[in-house]
Amino acid sequence: MTVVLTDEIQQMKTMIRNFVEKEVEPFAQQIEEEDAIPQHLVDKAKELGLFGMSIPEEYGGIGLNTVGKAVVLEQLGRTHNGFVSLISAHTGIGSTGLVKLASEHLKRKYLPDMASGEKIAAFALSEPGAGSDATNLSTTAEKKGEYWVVNGTKHFITNGPVADVFTVFALTDREKGAKGGITAFLIEKDFPGLIVGKKDKKMGLRGSYTSQIIFEDCIVPEENVIGEVGMGYINALTILGEGRVGLAARAVGSCDKLIELSAKYAKERVQFGKPIADNQGIQWILADMATETEAARALAMSAAQKIDDGQKVIKEASMAKLFASDVYNRVADKALQIHGGIGYIAEYAVERFYRDARITKIYEGTNEIQRIIISRRILEEN
Ligand SMILES: Cc1cc2nc3c(=O)[nH]c(=O)nc-3n(C[C@H](O)[C@H](O)[C@H](O)COP(=O)(O)OP(=O)(O)OC[C@H]3O[C@@H](n4cnc5c(N)ncnc54)[C@H](O)[C@@H]3O)c2cc1C
Repeated sequence: MTVVLTDEIQQMKTMIRNFVEKEVEPFAQQIEEEDAIPQHLVDKAKELGLFGMSIPEEYGGIGLNTVGKAVVLEQLGRTHNGFVSLISAHTGIGSTGLVKLASEHLKRKYLPDMASGEKIAAFALSEPGAGSDATNLSTTAEKKGEYWVVNGTKHFITNGPVADVFTVFALTDREKGAKGGITAFLIEKDFPGLIVGKKDKKMGLRGSYTSQIIFEDCIVPEENVIGEVGMGYINALTILGEGRVGLAARAVGSCDKLIELSAKYAKERVQFGKPIADNQGIQWILADMATETEAARALAMSAAQKIDDGQKVIKEASMAKLFASDVYNRVADKALQIHGGIGYIAEYAVERFYRDARITKIYEGTNEIQRIIISRRILEEN
């Protein structure tokens, strides 16, 4: 499938590429060391409209289609993955529920501040007892008059410590469970009974924070149900499905950067009296890195295009996520090998990408779960 980029998306691509190379990259090492994103980079991202990329123009965003978002995320993937995570969790899984499924009232109330980056969004599905099996939620929401009372604990929530609004999934009918008994809610940080847990210490994605979010008799107005009561599990699958395409695009961007760093280093590094790039053994590694990356890009962009064409892409989105995240891990490993010992040293970008690649095989549905989703579809279709 050929994906043709409009002039507007091409311009956006160039603008984000410049932002990434000229403004974010010089601070990548600082983000890594300080585990914090400089405020001026967040402000610039807001100015560029990045926090509103998935939010329609009528609510203050720039309303990119899925291909447009994938192109932007691919460019962002070229730089510090923790910085990207802040934005992509907000614009992806954090915003999609409101954009696609919420009432007009909720959209008007929350989306403008989310589009400007004034309010940061997060997506809270996972729990200590409900990871891959997201149907096994313990968090409950009980209707009391005009309010829902939410109790339970979510964990590993990206943007948890900095988010203002959360899309939260809770059990509203234990008997029905995933089949009509889970509901999505928009919960504000300041609603009584929401407690933000301490930041997790992670292997990578420095500057992007995850934490537990605890609900103790948290009071949520009736109007803050996202979509229909009982449709939360289906809604979660819809949100995650779209997020997977974005995750794949980000991974491809990181691969592009790693290939560039590796080719450059291979031409500079001299051993046995010649650049290591002169060895066919190194050339073949680069060829494999680039070929797999192009295949991952094709899967991601074709899934994005299909979403924009109104097609259902559960299988394709899972394929794109599965393949691109595996490729990212293989490319990061090969890049590190080409860099030799320097690749293992923390002050070089390759070491950081190598650690940051690892999570892409786990979050937004592990790669084992993607294989289950893909194979189920194949068995249904044939
Ligand atoms: C940095 C980070 C950020 C995250 N951000 C968010 C977020 O913003 N919001 C959110 O809701 N969650 C988030 N998560 C949670 C993430 O989505 C889960 O960690 C993930 O879905 C896996 O769940 P689990 O960790 O409980 O692993 P488990 O489900 O316990 O799985 C453990 C292993 O068993 C495998 N496995 C499980 N079931 C099967 C099966 N049926 N067949 C074969 N293999 C299987 C898994 O693939 C995995 O390899 C985040 C996690 C991390 C680490």
